[in-house]
Amino acid sequence: MQTNFTLAQLADPEIKVAEKILRSCVHCGFCTATCPTYVLLGDELDSPRGRIYLIKDMLEKDKPANEEVTLHIDRCLSCLACMTTCPSGVDYMHLVDHARAHIHATYKRPLVDRLTRSVLANVLPYPRRFRAAIVAAFFVRPFASLIGLIPGLSRFAAMLKLAPLRLPPRSANENKHLHPALDSKKARVALLRGCAQSVLDPAINDAAIRLLTRSGIEVVMPEGEGCCGALVHHMGRAEESHEQARRNIDIWTREIEGGGLDAILVTTSGCGTTIKDYGFMLRLDPRYADKAARVSSLAKDISEYLEGLDLGTPKNPSGLSVAYHAACSLQHGQQVRTAPKTLLARAGFRVSEPAESHLCCGSAGTYNMLQPEIATRLRDRKVANIEATEAALVAAGNIGCITQIAGATDLPVVHTIELLDWAYGGPKPGRLAATS
Ligand code: SF4
Ligand code: SF4
Repeated sequence: MQTNFTLAQLADPEIKVAEKILRSCVHCGFCTATCPTYVLLGDELDSPRGRIYLIKDMLEKDKPANEEVTLHIDRCLSCLACMTTCPSGVDYMHLVDHARAHIHATYKRPLVDRLTRSVLANVLPYPRRFRAAIVAAFFVRPFASLIGLIPGLSRFAAMLKLAPLRLPPRSANENKHLHPALDSKKARVALLRGCAQSVLDPAINDAAIRLLTRSGIEVVMPEGEGCCGALVHHMGRAEESHEQARRNIDIWTREIEGGGLDAILVTTSGCGTTIKDYGFMLRLDPRYADKAARVSSLAKDISEYLEGLDLGTPKNPSGLSVAYHAACSLQHGQQVRTAPKTLLARAGFRVSEPAESHLCCGSAGTYNMLQPEIATRLRDRKVANIEATEAALVAAGNIGCITQIAGATDLPVVHTIELLDWAYGGPKPGRLAATS
């Protein structure tokens, strides 16, 4: 694609990157077929190619974002299916990240939208606040449908509907920072404690700790580590996300230079995609560029790491049929496609993959709260495809997808790691125990 940036504009390193990305698009349109919003809405401006044109026009003319650009960029899930499909290797992720930051800096959203985003940015990344919000939501939840009828409050209604009816018990590991290897120590890894997942389903990391330590891996969850920054990053709040990234980088760097780390493991693939991108996010920060790149090079999805380990022979090969839901952040964001399925099959599960597995379930970070109508249509389509497999349960590697899919099916939806831990000697996952 031809671009017309001035030399003065190209002196800005962020614009320079955006220009390079724009030039790599040959507007062939292959990406439109796999873009969930184009598939649903059929509007070129809700396709990757259409959005690329909108971004090009906005940046080239050095314009503040307007209502039209904001509408179509907001509707983008950042699922990155377009990047998997694109034959020209267009780096849509960094382009849309840039556009979101530009919108955040130059567009004044309506008051309710600003309030909603502010609540999300100031609650979700902080486990204590998030826990309190879920407790408060319990009392308002019965009125969610009524609230949804009030103009402008459909997003608050969507948030209430997504809030769990009850909070799972806190993990006994919540304040433990070191989990020694139970067998002779083969490696030492950090495991991201995370924010929303640690409140919504602490059993996921508990399963990871059990499986890793039984396999001879020492697990460290350093004090002070917090949200990876993904939640605010996808809202265009670049500086806030960079601050959250820097805090984690400092903490992991201390571990790398102290006891040493062989990997930084992540059980929430949405976070994994962001941590793998720290090197890019902070490339212009002279104090953090090298440290960020080092952290990114160590980051791995838990399935990537486990695939290379000898987990031995499964102790509980259940033979259950599992529909594997590929989270977009894992399959498109990190290009991790086979490891979870390979691990589940090795552990004795019968694995099937639903039709349209490339399409997002509509969760996408805060998307299901900010764009509830599109998210619900995608969720229902996803659940129909999952149920068509006639599997007994669903496995996924991202808490957002797990919550989203579980909201529309009676099938148990569990994290892949919980099934692996069970197969190799751990307890049966709570959601499965409840159904038997
Ligand atoms: S497939 Fe790639 S090159 Fe083709 S229009 Fe989409 S982003 Fe551009
Ligand atoms: S990230 Fe997903 S929703 Fe956004 S343009 Fe690409 S395929 Fe479409």
